[in-house]
Amino acid sequence: MGLFLKSACVLCGDSVVKTISLCEPCRQDFPILENACQQCGLPLELANEDHSICGQCFKSPTAVDYTLCLYHYEIPLDYLITELKYNQKLAHAAILAELFLARLSEESAENLPDVILPVPLHKNRLIKRGFNQSLEIARPIAKQLDIPIGLDLVRRKRQTRTQTDLTAVERKKNIRGCFEIIKKESLSGYDHIVIVDDVVTTGSTANELAILLKKLGVKKVGVWSIARAVIK
Ligand SMILES: [Zn+2]
Ligand SMILES: [Zn+2]
Repeated sequence: MGLFLKSACVLCGDSVVKTISLCEPCRQDFPILENACQQCGLPLELANEDHSICGQCFKSPTAVDYTLCLYHYEIPLDYLITELKYNQKLAHAAILAELFLARLSEESAENLPDVILPVPLHKNRLIKRGFNQSLEIARPIAKQLDIPIGLDLVRRKRQTRTQTDLTAVERKKNIRGCFEIIKKESLSGYDHIVIVDDVVTTGSTANELAILLKKLGVKKVGVWSIARAVIK
């Protein structure tokens, strides 16, 4: 962990002396995602709580083996993530990464991946935004866990429409075939890969990546995400 610094909480402005600029009361208000499907991260219905996977994953399992999402994509997570992506608030990436690390340290049995793969942006979007938010979130996590980041594994060969206004079916179609492996050889030695994404909505992006990786021999693909959105 980094040094303790005196700063102002990014949400309420109160002064904080912590490694991150988030006060404890604000942090405790975060909408923790408990009781979610272990495979896709979807919140499980209460009636369903004895099961560890949702009905959809039970009926037709995806290529993703497990998903760990910290929070519901609601206030204030939507604010923190939107500000990171569209208002260059890169400090938020460090906050989100530290929250993720804290949660990960509680997940004792989870074995760690060989490499971390931030969901790649298309180069046009990368140029426009100036950074990849998933990479910015992945960086401190990878450093702390001493796991490499797979920057040269996969690229987005086709620019996709922004997914925000699409239905689940449209998202699946929109993302199909949009990734490609850069060099097959760079995957060698990686049996277990974790995809890092800021928000998981339908899981179609992660699933598309997982299908591609598994075709090339990767055995286990997981997802680490800050928040889980749900399309109503
Ligand atoms: Zn605060
Ligand atoms: Zn599921």
